[in-house]
Amino acid sequence: MHEFAVTEGLLEIVQAEARKAGARKVSEVHVTIGELSTFVDRSIEFYFTELSRGTLAEGAELVFTTVEASAWCDLCDIEFHPDSAFVTCPECHSPVPVLSRGQELYVDSIEVG
Ligand SMILES: [Zn+2]
Repeated sequence: MHEFAVTEGLLEIVQAEARKAGARKVSEVHVTIGELSTFVDRSIEFYFTELSRGTLAEGAELVFTTVEASAWCDLCDIEFHPDSAFVTCPECHSPVPVLSRGQELYVDSIEVG
């Protein structure tokens, strides 16, 4: 259920950006989501619809872009595509704790009308 808190955060950013642009209405919100992030886009959509009622962003469409995950092994100096957030290097099998990308979630841009 952590989508609720995340969606609150997204909505705050969207409203701040819309006010900065002097917009009266937000038509689209482009959200970038990492392939391995644990956020469910449908849950975010659901909360966004609920939370945005009566705000500038009411009725805005959420457009999700997925970023492919990527991990890096320092020992072998290789980049590879991980299938989970906790992976081992395919070459040396040592644990690779840090993903260079793939777990992010942020507002990329908004369209106002
Ligand atoms: Zn390695």
